[in-house]
Amino acid sequence: MTRIPCDVIQDLLPLYYDEICSESTKQLVEEHLAVCTDCRSALEQMQSSLNLTLQERELHTLEGKGLQNIKKWWSHTRWIAFIRGMIVAASLCGILIIGYWVLFRWNIQPVPSDQIMISDIRTRSNGEIAFQIQIRGGYTQVKNTLKDDGSYYITPVQPLIVSKRGKANTSVSGGMFINPLSVRAYYKNQGKDVEITSIYYGSPDQPILIWKKGRTLPAED
Ligand SMILES: [Zn+2]
Repeated sequence: MTRIPCDVIQDLLPLYYDEICSESTKQLVEEHLAVCTDCRSALEQMQSSLNLTLQERELHTLEGKGLQNIKKWWSHTRWIAFIRGMIVAASLCGILIIGYWVLFRWNIQPVPSDQIMISDIRTRSNGEIAFQIQIRGGYTQVKNTLKDDGSYYITPVQPLIVSKRGKANTSVSGGMFINPLSVRAYYKNQGKDVEITSIYYGSPDQPILIWKKGRTLPAED
């Protein structure tokens, strides 16, 4: 059998030393070590340097009395332990509060369109478009978006998780009116001048069309 080059064996030595190589690798390494003094001393060096590191570490621990004392003081002083407990409890509370707020209070999720009912869409003589909305549970706030193509979205939003009580309390039904010219004027003020060409209610993903430019709506009396 051809002799395995020393550098291959020495690449394998760390694996061999840590006993994480296969049985056949182990056998190959041992066969080589039996006949090669270079690789044997490489292994010995590895063993002694690792032992040294361990010894050094122990020495440092003994010598690092200053640090040790601080540790003792930290862990054995009762009021420190108390404060430490308080800090842990406070940060735990903080995490819980943030988590609660993110899940139950932060209005980021559009109310699904199947929870929204739009009816009775009409125009008024003053140019307003009036309609009735009914939203089942969980609605908390409205976000408005004007896209560059002139579509305007009125999006009711709710937290990721709506509690039963929230669902019961936040159902909405009522009339709404909106004037496309006023919306345009508002956005022009903000530096975005786009003609309003359509108005949607609900999330841009599942929009409910209220009005489109050129569409004639029944007039309100
Ligand atoms: Zn060798």
